[in-house]
Amino acid sequence: MKKRILQLTLENAVAFKGKANPKAVINKIIPTVKDKSKLRAIGKEVSDTIKKVNKLSLSKQKAQLKKINPSFFNKKVKVKKELIDLPNVGKNFRARFAPSASGPLHIGHALVISLNKIYAGKYKGKHILRIEDTNPDANFKEFYKMIPKDYAWLAGKPSETYIQSARIKTYYKYAEQLIKAGHLYVCEETPEEVKAKLKKGIQPFGRRDDPKEVLRKWKRMLTGKYNPGEAVVRVKTNLKGKNPALKEWVAFRISGGTHPKVGNKVRVWPLMNFSVAIDDYELKMTHVIRGKDHEDNTKKQKMIYDFLGWTYPEYIHLGRINFKNMIISASDVRKGVEEGKYTGYDDERVETLASIRKRGIKAKALLKFFYEMGPTKRDKTVDKKEVYKTLDALNRKL
Ligand code: GLU
Repeated sequence: MKKRILQLTLENAVAFKGKANPKAVINKIIPTVKDKSKLRAIGKEVSDTIKKVNKLSLSKQKAQLKKINPSFFNKKVKVKKELIDLPNVGKNFRARFAPSASGPLHIGHALVISLNKIYAGKYKGKHILRIEDTNPDANFKEFYKMIPKDYAWLAGKPSETYIQSARIKTYYKYAEQLIKAGHLYVCEETPEEVKAKLKKGIQPFGRRDDPKEVLRKWKRMLTGKYNPGEAVVRVKTNLKGKNPALKEWVAFRISGGTHPKVGNKVRVWPLMNFSVAIDDYELKMTHVIRGKDHEDNTKKQKMIYDFLGWTYPEYIHLGRINFKNMIISASDVRKGVEEGKYTGYDDERVETLASIRKRGIKAKALLKFFYEMGPTKRDKTVDKKEVYKTLDALNRKL
């Protein structure tokens, strides 16, 4: 008992600038005393111990406590907030982070990466990296190395990694299936012509072609019979729908650009909504966490799921986070580096993960920062100064 009283007194003293409080110590001791007749004696022992301990300097108290209970000093930083649960989590939680290889990863990306990683840990599931590079002109070689490296720094190696340019055959397979089922058609009109027609409620040319004819035109697209811009594949949608952004959206286009991975081997490329829908299903994603700027995309992607009779993943749309006074735009950062305005992708003036790492911020501090933010639906503005103040504080604790 004496030893226990001494330990509790020292712990209380160390936690409160060298002055132990008798009440606090007594309150911890009483529940452990079975023989109540000893309470008086124990009370005296506590007050004697307090007197002795409070006479010591804080550093002496610490030294003594370290001998009795060293684990007191390696307590983990306490988590303030409980992370909210995601809906419909089953046995195989799978979430993906899907950047294009158009620029380096930055603090904006870190939110989704962190949430995927944290939830994958919580639900014993997988966090997956999928590089979305189906636009030959907007993806660049250096980022295929940089993205996995920066991802791994923040969240550890992803459970799986995919690159969309290596999955073209899968997209073609589904395109053919959907053409045969009458859901897609080849359209040879310009976007302006189609837009004008849709405004008047008129069907674009090609929409009434029977699947055999569509298939013939699709083969012509694949064998290079059209030039870029001369034909696209469109999705048959509700022409009477209210939202013009969802009407007759383009699923495939022809590009003359040289792709950083596959060169000129591929000319017919899926657009984001098509390849994302196919991959989210094929790669068995259960939860899709992304910004609410994707809400219309979700509606388009669900159309593909409906055509194929698939069950949707859970879509979680996060509020927009405005990173005030922070340079994160892929093209701004890339141009700045190319033009020599920045010293590199880890320049302190840009908020890339490489630059945050170079500043000495630990990945854990960033993860915790986003853990505390959580999957919030509210829009938020965070300022550079404020962000680094919090990150520095978290870093120090770690
Ligand atoms: N690759 C797309 C993007 O960067 C899709 C992201 C997503 O669906 O999460 O916006």
